[in-house]
Amino acid sequence: MKNREVACPHCKKKFNYFESEFRPFCCEKCRLIDLGHWLSESYSVPAEKLTPDEIETLEKVQYEEENPEEDDEEGSSQGR
Ligand SMILES: [Zn+2]
Repeated sequence: MKNREVACPHCKKKFNYFESEFRPFCCEKCRLIDLGHWLSESYSVPAEKLTPDEIETLEKVQYEEENPEEDDEEGSSQGR
């Protein structure tokens, strides 16, 4: 069985290269975040390698990065 330990380019976590579906990244999130940085740095490059599904996930991840969960309780505007 192949076993090759590499460090994720995004989070530097060590993982087995052959076990990750998202190599060279350790997980989908690292891959998408890194792709997102790459895309925003060179936006002139068409993202034709991404499937619509990947783009959707990417946008979601980026949104969550930019908008950390806040305690947005709807009860904050309650009267008396
Ligand atoms: Zn990672």
